[in-house]
Amino acid sequence: MREGLTQRLYRDFADLYRQHALPDSESLMCYGFECGDGWYDVLYEMSTKIKAAVDAEEDVEPREVAVSQVKEKLGGLRVYMSGNKVDVDGVRQALEDASRRAASTCERCGSEGSLKKNHGWLMTLCGECEETRKANSERRLQVRQQRLKMLLKDSGVDTSERVSL
Ligand SMILES: [Zn+2]
Repeated sequence: MREGLTQRLYRDFADLYRQHALPDSESLMCYGFECGDGWYDVLYEMSTKIKAAVDAEEDVEPREVAVSQVKEKLGGLRVYMSGNKVDVDGVRQALEDASRRAASTCERCGSEGSLKKNHGWLMTLCGECEETRKANSERRLQVRQQRLKMLLKDSGVDTSERVSL
């Protein structure tokens, strides 16, 4: 996620994301939000709900609940918490809601999306971002084939047949 959005989440939910300042031996939050910008709204809503749930619990202090990692895995949103007071109903509900919402939200642009599969690779995308991604990878492949053909030509190999990588 780009820096501006990351900093906004750190600023608005300073207690929740305070572990971003810790070394990676203590928390993986130092790597920021390891997902696309499209999930910013999902994370903002989740953070708002967690904060509200923690504020509503009399015996839980805000500093007893922290997020230790946020990442995309197999096309889904994964959020890990730390602290012995994270087992609050509202917190668990907020994590479930975020995971469900992310599963139908394009990770690139935030539009409605669904899980897309490509060569064993998974990502939640909308139709348009999926087309862009396909076009880009097709273009990269063409450039690579062009380069390979030139290399082979230089070395005297017959390139009249389509070169496959
Ligand atoms: Zn999209």
